[in-house]
Amino acid sequence: MLKINNLHAAIGDKTILKGLSLELNPGEVHAIMGPNGAGKSTLSYVLGGRDGYEVTEGSATFEGEDILDMDPHERAAAGLFLGFQYPVEIPGVSNLQFLRESLNAQRRARGEEELSGGAFIKLAKEKAALLKMDMDMLKRAVNVGFSGGEKKRNEMVQMGILDPKLAILDETDSGLDIDALRIVGEGINSIMRQPDKAVLLITHYQRLLDIVKPDHVHVLADGRIVKSGGPELALELEEQGYEAIAA
Ligand code: ADP
Ligand code: MG
Ligand code: MG
Repeated sequence: MLKINNLHAAIGDKTILKGLSLELNPGEVHAIMGPNGAGKSTLSYVLGGRDGYEVTEGSATFEGEDILDMDPHERAAAGLFLGFQYPVEIPGVSNLQFLRESLNAQRRARGEEELSGGAFIKLAKEKAALLKMDMDMLKRAVNVGFSGGEKKRNEMVQMGILDPKLAILDETDSGLDIDALRIVGEGINSIMRQPDKAVLLITHYQRLLDIVKPDHVHVLADGRIVKSGGPELALELEEQGYEAIAA
């Protein structure tokens, strides 16, 4: 589904990703762990197509297509979803407006019909319930005044509505209390734990991986994957730290 080969990427003249290779198959959850500044967020930005990141070497394909060549909207329409460490606030635009327009833009790009208002509200209610989000919150401006946990749950509602093939989730567990962590983790499972979908979960902590159980765990350090293993690798990292495992 996702094939990253020898990826090098820079911000300005600073090279951050230094030969990163990774392959995700449908049905798999991969966790990426690693010290601060390793390039984890950079990887998600590069895959999402954020401005300011220059790929200097290597490739990334999504279902066989060169995604680095697509603009961010094309990537989203192709089925790529990015969850951000710091979700943006959009004053003046309600969550429901934003979600409906995002979904319909993707459907138009895929040559599909737009969803009617009624069908959209039904879908939004279903996904909001899954994430235990009140519909009243979805009527408020995007993320404005939301707590950290509410922003993350809101983002998972968005993921549920957009129904991507591949989700790249960057520290979705940061700032969540124990109950919100469970709601978000179970939301990820119910939306994304399917044979035709895959997840790249960037996290520092085992606690999310106790709920969303990874098939593969990778350590990213200094811009490349330095170690890969099964779920046990995350436990070893938590016990021994990155230095001991990845040095
Ligand atoms: P991680 O998510 O693993 O903590 P990041 O991908 O955020 O790491 O950052 C990787 C490196 O890139 C860090 O050294 C960081 O300081 C640097 N970096 C991130 N954004 C910028 C930027 N806009 N300009 C220059 N350096 C940056
Ligand atoms: Mg595998
Ligand atoms: Mg980061």
